[in-house]
Amino acid sequence: MKTPFVTLDQVQEIVNTHPTPFHLYHEQAIRDNVRALQATFAWNPGFKEYFAVKATPTPGILRILQEEGCGLDCASLAELLLAERMGIVGDEIMFSSNMTPAEEYEKAMELGAIINLDDISHVDFLQDLCGIPAKISCRYNPGGVFALDNEIMDSPGDAKYGMTKEQLVEAYKKLMSYGATEFGIHAFLASNTIADEYYPELAAILFELAVDVQQKTGAKIAFINLSGGIGIPYRPEEQGADIAAIGKGVQEAYNRILVPAGMGDVAIYTELGRFMLGPYGCLVGRVLHKKDIYKQYVGLDACAVDLMRPAMYGAYHHITVLGKESAPLDHVYDVAGSLCENNDKFAIDRPLPEIAIGDYVVIHDTGAHGHAMGYNYNGKLRSAELLQTADGQVKLLRRAETPEDYFATMIF
Ligand SMILES: *Cc1c(COP(=O)(O)O)cnc(C)c1O
Repeated sequence: MKTPFVTLDQVQEIVNTHPTPFHLYHEQAIRDNVRALQATFAWNPGFKEYFAVKATPTPGILRILQEEGCGLDCASLAELLLAERMGIVGDEIMFSSNMTPAEEYEKAMELGAIINLDDISHVDFLQDLCGIPAKISCRYNPGGVFALDNEIMDSPGDAKYGMTKEQLVEAYKKLMSYGATEFGIHAFLASNTIADEYYPELAAILFELAVDVQQKTGAKIAFINLSGGIGIPYRPEEQGADIAAIGKGVQEAYNRILVPAGMGDVAIYTELGRFMLGPYGCLVGRVLHKKDIYKQYVGLDACAVDLMRPAMYGAYHHITVLGKESAPLDHVYDVAGSLCENNDKFAIDRPLPEIAIGDYVVIHDTGAHGHAMGYNYNGKLRSAELLQTADGQVKLLRRAETPEDYFATMIF
């Protein structure tokens, strides 16, 4: 069973000021989760989480994470400019991009961000553009498939990211000849992985690689970036990641592989997005219509523009009808938005309590890759983002779009 962090009474109060639909985030839960992550990596003195900005590029959220000691992982010019506008610069920024335009490297260099090169060809691209910084990272792709306990989690061999091991060794040699003195290794092998073995397994691969690369090239490995990929339990029957066990697993690999190689000073970085925010945001909408044809439909004021994951990946997002939390799930509905696209469904054949027009529904786990993925198809406008603060207030973090926002780029 999944319980929303907001009640019907609270929503009825919020809508007096902020009409549905809106995304709502839970400040205290976000802070508690960052602290749990840091506690589990406290054994590593250099540990730092660089929040993947693309997951929730909202200043009010990024500020909370910054206050908790996180940096930002940026991947575009606008994400870099957002960090700059918030006064977050220098090695508080990890710039992990791919197919990178020149202007983005230039901005990252100007801000003093740590740059993570996605390809060996970018060594010369960056050198010719603005020179190589002293501290730099390279992204690794081991190819093949990535499996845990014989279960295939993802296929790095089909992924556009990173470089082969041979290229990585070559890249470090070249970077050293261009003056770099401190190096990082980065890899992202599987997305939304709730198995606790993911990070320890990835860490072991990267630690062994780091030892090998340092021995082959003499490059001083300063940090290893485990990137994103820790998943969250979107389904009520799923078990969430045991972050304490994950930290222990990484520590065990660290002590087994890095420490004996004399590399016990390597910092661990992470670039989590989903794990940091996913469960601590939800989308609140209201039932506008019910429709009974070959199936039973519930029509919301929210649509795929507010949350694209179900339409894009067929992703499951749990739905709670507020005020009916303990009612029997004795009806089956497709829960739809208003786009002229039949994939605009938050749920298909979902058992739910009997729904009435005017009911408020909570769509769970929209805190990461939720509002951020929004778009404007059908001239639909993206919703507001609100924060339930640690002291129980509700604060507007981003207003809802207006038609003027939609028209802003058009030439009439
Ligand atoms: C998307 C992304 C992340 C965050 O991924 P999550 O699945 O949200 O943890 C981290 N690093 C890079 C380079 C990414 O592209």
